[in-house]
Amino acid sequence: MKKEIVLFFLVFICTVLTVHAQRKEIAKVTILKNGFIFDDKFELHKGSIVITDATITAILYDDNLTDYIGAIIIDITGKYVLPGLTDTHVHLATAPDPDREKNAKYMNDQLSRMIDAGITTVRDMTGNAIILADYKRASNLNQIPAPSIFYAAQFAGPAYFTLMRKHSKEDKDTPWERTITDTTDIKMAVAEAKGAGVTGIKIYNDLSPRIVKKIVKEANRQKLQCWSHAAVFPATPTAVAGAKVNSMSHAFDIPYDFSEGKMDHHKKPPAIDTLKMNKLLRLMKANAVILDATNYMGTNNNFFDGMKVTKRAHELGVRVSTGTDWPYLFEEAGTTPLFKEIKILTTDCNFSNRDALISATKIGAESIGLKDRGVLEAGKRADIYITNSDPVQNIENLKDGFMTIKSGIIYTKK
Ligand SMILES: [Zn+2]
Repeated sequence: MKKEIVLFFLVFICTVLTVHAQRKEIAKVTILKNGFIFDDKFELHKGSIVITDATITAILYDDNLTDYIGAIIIDITGKYVLPGLTDTHVHLATAPDPDREKNAKYMNDQLSRMIDAGITTVRDMTGNAIILADYKRASNLNQIPAPSIFYAAQFAGPAYFTLMRKHSKEDKDTPWERTITDTTDIKMAVAEAKGAGVTGIKIYNDLSPRIVKKIVKEANRQKLQCWSHAAVFPATPTAVAGAKVNSMSHAFDIPYDFSEGKMDHHKKPPAIDTLKMNKLLRLMKANAVILDATNYMGTNNNFFDGMKVTKRAHELGVRVSTGTDWPYLFEEAGTTPLFKEIKILTTDCNFSNRDALISATKIGAESIGLKDRGVLEAGKRADIYITNSDPVQNIENLKDGFMTIKSGIIYTKK
């Protein structure tokens, strides 16, 4: 008897579990119908994109939508469909406003400005990781209009932090802002950075080539990326590229590599030495190091040689990403630092419009180590920017936005 009761309950529980497991929510299907869709080389194809929840599940090149009865249809006839854009160098929370409400407003304003401009992913190159983690989560849960946020921990030598913290008693080491010396337990420092939710270690300043190598090795072992400044002082750009970091920021710092004797960041970088530059760029290419050029910020600070470096990098096949390192709210409403960064590639660095757009999408994703975005393909995230006019014909048309979709959520321009 007792046995039978137990058996009955077991059968009952299993039935309940099965019924429960079978009760699945019906996925939300949206179709962007009849647009001009850019492939991974930014060639146009007329077609429709099927989005199921947060993912692109099909791209259709005919008018047959009979498999999708009940789907939400958005007619985008005559519109242009790009992968969402990536800014590979932002600082969202480097100096948070001490007033909580003001800071929240600042965060929300800059993030929604990015979404309006078709930016669906950003790489934050160090700031307060508690704030960044909070907004990363809010973005992941689609609680606010915001791109996906990936952020870094800043590793630098004592000379840098001593200078930075001279006037602030509060600043001390945190898992995301770490003084590194010869005696630092790098394994623990990387583990703690990882615990703070970072995707990459930013190798910043006052570090020797030996320590840079050590950081890269340990970060790779713990499955983190390494994003470095081009010139880390005393580690040269050649030393940084040789250490196989994933990306190097600031093309205008590359000429420090051509210094006679010791590099000195108190001095302007020397003139470009073409032979040495080619050698360094070929090393970057061989080691798959992406150049995070930041030329818009460079020109704002009168560093113009970065554009020559970027041009040559592109000729030699080094991948170039589009980072701005420029606050979005410094610009008037409607203007976007990322569009200016992309434009510079086309006007001063000999990029075709197509190549500049590949930099802002596919290479942007690659520079964060992301394989789930950057191109429009079945299986990728539904991160999409739709414009009214063709940015391959005229790069200025990037400003002519119609709609941004991030993670399947639709945002129309305010
Ligand atoms: Zn920066």
